[in-house]
Amino acid sequence: MSFAELGLAPSIVQSLTEAGFSEPTPVQARAIPLALEGHDLMVSSQTGSGKTAAFMLPALNKQVQASPLRTPGVRVLVLTPTRELAQQVSDATRTYGKTLNWLRTATVVGGMPYGAQLKALSRRVDVLVATPGRLLDHVQSGKVNLSEVEVLVLDEADRMLDMGFIDDIEAIVARTPATRQTLLFSATLDGSVARMAAKMMRDPQRIEI
Ligand code: AMP
Repeated sequence: MSFAELGLAPSIVQSLTEAGFSEPTPVQARAIPLALEGHDLMVSSQTGSGKTAAFMLPALNKQVQASPLRTPGVRVLVLTPTRELAQQVSDATRTYGKTLNWLRTATVVGGMPYGAQLKALSRRVDVLVATPGRLLDHVQSGKVNLSEVEVLVLDEADRMLDMGFIDDIEAIVARTPATRQTLLFSATLDGSVARMAAKMMRDPQRIEI
């Protein structure tokens, strides 16, 4: 099975070839075709499984044919529990989207100065990777508009809940369009993760690796 056979656009496949990825990992092989069909997904997967590409590749694929004339705005929003994970996801996005040279990625995380983040948010942003608390600050002060979000990713959802981010996540999700696609990744899919998913996902397909 190749990345092209999963249904990804040639420009995305080219970025992966340049990154040295020759074939999809199991979570990528299962999640990418379903995500490309537009399904909401709940995926149980561990760090190191290739989960970042499993959500970012289909999200970027949606951007490949986007018109340059469309309204500027955040199209892909990724929420992560920690600053370190947010940085890793941003770095991976730049690698996976290397051939989409117009694509702009920004990172907004707690514990870092506001200045650089405000500067980044004042420019075009297509992919925003954020921790929930700081993102909500920026949303409430009118620095980020989430009304154009097409794909929302909840990465390490169980850890975000363990860290007490549920209210922030709900407030953020409420500002994204109901028509968005939601992709949730978590070590476990039960308990509080399932309850959150029931509130914010539409007929999610479950993938357990
Ligand atoms: P992740 O689970 O997303 O943190 O990915 C773990 C590591 O695997 C990262 O260093 C990725 O660059 C790498 N990786 C992800 N997908 C593939 C793939 N299909 N082939 C080779 N390496 C990959």
